[in-house]
Amino acid sequence: TPAIYWIRKDLRIADNRALLAAAENGRPVIPLFICEDDRAGALGGAQSWWLERSLARLGESYEKLGVGLVLKSGDPAEIIPDLIRETGAEAVYWNRRYAPDGIKTDKALKQKLKAEDITVESFGGHILHEPSKFRTKTGGPYKVYTPFWKAFSAEPHVPDPLDAPERLEKPGAMPESERLADWALYPGKPDWAEGFEPIWTPGEAGACERLDRFLDEIAEDYAASRDRPDIEATSMLSAHLALGEISPATVWHRVNAARDLSAENRKKYLQELVWRDFCHHLLFHAPDLATINWNDRFDGFDWSDDDKAFEAWKRGRTGYPIVDAGMRQLWAEGTMHNRVRMIAASFLIKDLMIDWRRGEAWFRDTLVDADPASNPANWQWVAGSGADAAPFFRIFNPVLQGEKFDPKGDYVRRYVPELEAMPAKHIHAPFDAPEKALKEAGVTLGETYPKPLVDHKTARKNALAAFEKIKD
Ligand code: FAD
Repeated sequence: TPAIYWIRKDLRIADNRALLAAAENGRPVIPLFICEDDRAGALGGAQSWWLERSLARLGESYEKLGVGLVLKSGDPAEIIPDLIRETGAEAVYWNRRYAPDGIKTDKALKQKLKAEDITVESFGGHILHEPSKFRTKTGGPYKVYTPFWKAFSAEPHVPDPLDAPERLEKPGAMPESERLADWALYPGKPDWAEGFEPIWTPGEAGACERLDRFLDEIAEDYAASRDRPDIEATSMLSAHLALGEISPATVWHRVNAARDLSAENRKKYLQELVWRDFCHHLLFHAPDLATINWNDRFDGFDWSDDDKAFEAWKRGRTGYPIVDAGMRQLWAEGTMHNRVRMIAASFLIKDLMIDWRRGEAWFRDTLVDADPASNPANWQWVAGSGADAAPFFRIFNPVLQGEKFDPKGDYVRRYVPELEAMPAKHIHAPFDAPEKALKEAGVTLGETYPKPLVDHKTARKNALAAFEKIKD
């Protein structure tokens, strides 16, 4: 009798414990993906674009292995028992997911199936170690990254990646699949994601190519350059990791095995990868991470409801070039460099004093790597409301940050073409540029490029004053 392997955020064949368990000893496998009822709410637009492509490629991979991918839409609590009845399957396997709604669905289903004597087993693999594994000396969760990293480093071993199966056995009675095209996951009209195509290759092969390229060409300068948005200096693996097209254990071991990498670059990269685990650790202990301030002092913060300012931020029209470049990169490519994410988030929260949750929701909808753990954890980190947070008074100055990390202004020029002719000296603060420089660059503030929404110095003072009120 066959086993069902229920696919979720593990759109890969290699290093896949649940798949291997289902296929053990040549047992026939039904690889199943369910478009769950709340899918539209759970995945943002950019990630729906990605999922559609990734599923198409995963389907091809399963065909090559000898079994078709079965697509169903609806409630897993009904679909899976129905499939068991239809196919006589004796077991169901899946790899764990960690967002609270997913955990709830999985727990209930596990109980229900076990009560019917069906074997159900779940496996790790979406993160390096299970989020419950690490506890402080007093038994609580880690709230600060550095001690978490120490505890993590003391762990003996990240499990070795497992080989992909070469062939899968097809069950006698294969259930019918819905058609991916009928789901219209990403309607594509108007095609906002046009700019995604040249940059991204969703799917397992694309993830492996990205990792190869990173190790061959980029990693050797990672520690020194990872904060520079104007150069290609990071792995761009986050979206692949978010949907499990490559396992973090694979990345971990490949980076560790890259002997030509300096210890500094290797450590820096692995530390970043472990931030991802840390965010999952936080989410595990605070399932409401996306909606509730970890630090409840912030519940009384006097957020602004200036919708016009929020709209200008979303569209990259704040008048601060580094912020605008980041927001436009996000819209055009479904991603934004990490340093610029911090600057743009800080600008929303501290300069515009708009609730971090609105920014989190916008990122969730527009990032191809939108992740239920990493996105809210990082937003709360920038807001200062998180477990391990930058203090509120550390407010990014968008001009100085731009000058430091995009010294020639190339990043700004790429995404804010109306400033293309501005010299590096003035590109991060066109509002302070002499008339002559603006004229020569063909820039008229308020016409060709927006005047700044706020004066940063004043905005900073206002933010600090608002923070004073909730400090104690
Ligand atoms: P690399 O520098 O190559 O890093 C390697 C991997 O480490 C990344 O792929 C990622 O999985 C992990 N990583 C690196 N930095 C972080 C971090 N700060 N937190 C968690 N994991 C990290 N990352 C997401 O994957 N999804 C999100 O939704 C997300 N939202 C963010 C929101 C804000 C406001 C900020 C400041 C950061 C956010 N990040 C998020 C973290 C980070 O910006 C991205 O992981 C990174 O830019 C991805 O690029 P990369 O793969 O080239 O990173």
